[in-house]
Amino acid sequence: MPPHALAHDDQGRIDLRSLDWDAFRALMVDEWGDSATRARRVFRHLWTQPFTSFEAIPNLALATRRMLEQRAYVPTLQTEQVIESEDGTTKFLWRCEDGAVIESVLIPDNDRLTLCMSSQVGCAMACTFCLTGDMGLKRQLKASEIAMQPLLVGLSLPPEKRIANLVLMGMGEPLHNLDNLVPALTLCMDDHGLNFGHRKITVSTVGLVPKMAELAAALPVNLAVSINATTEEQRRQIMPITRKHSLAELLDACRAFPLPSGKSILFEYVMLAGFNDADEDAVRLADLLEGIPSKINLIPYNENPDRDLRRPAPERVTAFQALLMQRGYFTKIRITRGIDVSAACGQLGKARQRNAAVSAPA
Ligand code: SF4
Repeated sequence: MPPHALAHDDQGRIDLRSLDWDAFRALMVDEWGDSATRARRVFRHLWTQPFTSFEAIPNLALATRRMLEQRAYVPTLQTEQVIESEDGTTKFLWRCEDGAVIESVLIPDNDRLTLCMSSQVGCAMACTFCLTGDMGLKRQLKASEIAMQPLLVGLSLPPEKRIANLVLMGMGEPLHNLDNLVPALTLCMDDHGLNFGHRKITVSTVGLVPKMAELAAALPVNLAVSINATTEEQRRQIMPITRKHSLAELLDACRAFPLPSGKSILFEYVMLAGFNDADEDAVRLADLLEGIPSKINLIPYNENPDRDLRRPAPERVTAFQALLMQRGYFTKIRITRGIDVSAACGQLGKARQRNAAVSAPA
């Protein structure tokens, strides 16, 4: 890890949960002169246990504890709110050390649990259908703040339950924070810690084209692309990133993305009634993805009071799906989970803002 990526608190102590194993070892063993065995013991404790103090880590020499206390600290995320939906979705709102609030959503799918994680506070991409986009980018999440989401959710589960999949589809554009995302996901994959296989991790992007190749070079994780439109003009209307990186460029980057055999790119398509849900859109989408190993997720829009956008009727969604399937694409309709807890991207954060505005003194 380059030195600039070391995260500190205001007393200059190093954030130990932002260091992947190689960086952690380099710090504790090469720089501080401690043993590799003790370094591994501390690292393992930080990523498998709730942290209370360095005193609570078993079998550490007194000198090691003192050194850690002086030079390092272990951040956490405070649980602001946990909201369970009737469909089994659970939304976690976390308060970071600077007061910023981020969210993770735990989604059951048959007997598996998928955790949807945030990568930024707010987002700079300004997709018009997304409430997080209204916030703008407040700041990048540190590697520790990303990787602690599966750690803390995992620790809150009963012993018989485990998170099976991680998806970076929550608040933020993950590839806009690649410097912190890569160490965070390396931490998620470490077999002495969170131990997620790379096939269990999916990173979603709206199309930060140059960063897609960087991601592929750094980590062998799955890629999802939030495509949502089938012409340049249509995409520019709802996804401003298209002005910088066109749909054609994005699809070229998808074609060039190195995929292991048998793997495909997941294309997400938010369906907006009367805008991108016509048969012609389905045909164009099938044409655009020709030659790219693809799976498609259709996501009927999650209606909300902040947008005058409508979800298509169920028959329209299934007709759209049928056209794609006729063309040989594996196409799923994503049931919008957790509507009663505002689990769609950014909606609870927005609801909180609205309530705060209502209750704020004039
Ligand atoms: S959809 Fe994703 S990339 Fe677009 S504004 Fe929302 S959080 Fe950002």
